[in-house]
Amino acid sequence: MKNILLAIIAISIFGCKNDTKTNGKLNVVTTTTMITDLVKNIGGDSVNVQGLMGSGVDPHLYKASEGDVTKLTNADIIFYNGLHLEGKLVEVFEKMGNTKTPIALADGLDKSGLIGSDYFASNYDPHVWFNIDYFKQFAEKVSSVLAEKNPENKATFEANTKAYIAKLDALQENINSIIETLPEEKRILVTAHDAFNYFGKAYNFEVVGLQGLSTATEAGVQDVQKLAAFIIEKQIKAIFVESSVPKRTIEALQAAVKSKGHDVEIGGTLYSDALGTTGTVEGTYIGMFEYNVNTIVNALK
Ligand code: ZN
Repeated sequence: MKNILLAIIAISIFGCKNDTKTNGKLNVVTTTTMITDLVKNIGGDSVNVQGLMGSGVDPHLYKASEGDVTKLTNADIIFYNGLHLEGKLVEVFEKMGNTKTPIALADGLDKSGLIGSDYFASNYDPHVWFNIDYFKQFAEKVSSVLAEKNPENKATFEANTKAYIAKLDALQENINSIIETLPEEKRILVTAHDAFNYFGKAYNFEVVGLQGLSTATEAGVQDVQKLAAFIIEKQIKAIFVESSVPKRTIEALQAAVKSKGHDVEIGGTLYSDALGTTGTVEGTYIGMFEYNVNTIVNALK
């Protein structure tokens, strides 16, 4: 309730405020670490980027703090994922609608390619960044919005976008060559929640999340037992923890497999809904993707 009130106060402030820049730079506020990294790559030195969520933060459960509302109030542009990934921030954004339109990057994607989901109010699975082609479309959208707000730096944003998309193309090639080394029958990915459906679709993995699409619902005992039986039947070597989801559910699954007289390893920690620590390789989208694929392929081989 407090957050909503603050948001209302914030709206009454933006009502009479034009876009302002700090030291000539656009103030951009972003939600997830993936989007923060993207906007830093495209905006370069010409924008101030403030990400609301840090490493290890779960966007499904994230609520705006008082400090966040101040950042949103002072923002020239707000970028977020959308498709109800940031479930609890949406109500804050909706209140801001008339004066400042936060930009949901996933809204620009062609819906016919998206994976449907009854769980989210959007009716789509929001974890679209695990399809590199969609992330490239995010890059193009960020570039055009920055250029529109700050036309004097348009050429810089376009050059940065071109360079970043070339890196994403190189990432795609690298990922393809790593995944090719894993036989198709071993491509079964069991994780804490269903963040990897787009990844699975792109690289022919069967993906099973213990917790369903969002971390807002906990897995029940029956889900754990059913999935343990599946792991034994398919002779799956490893299952994976996620950095933004408590690991107890995956440990419970491992214990359930053991109680049936079998073994399954924990193959490592994957970055699903948040990148690694800023300043590390896994703290970038490209580094995260390579790390995840290497971890998955090495553990399942
Ligand atoms: Zn998620």
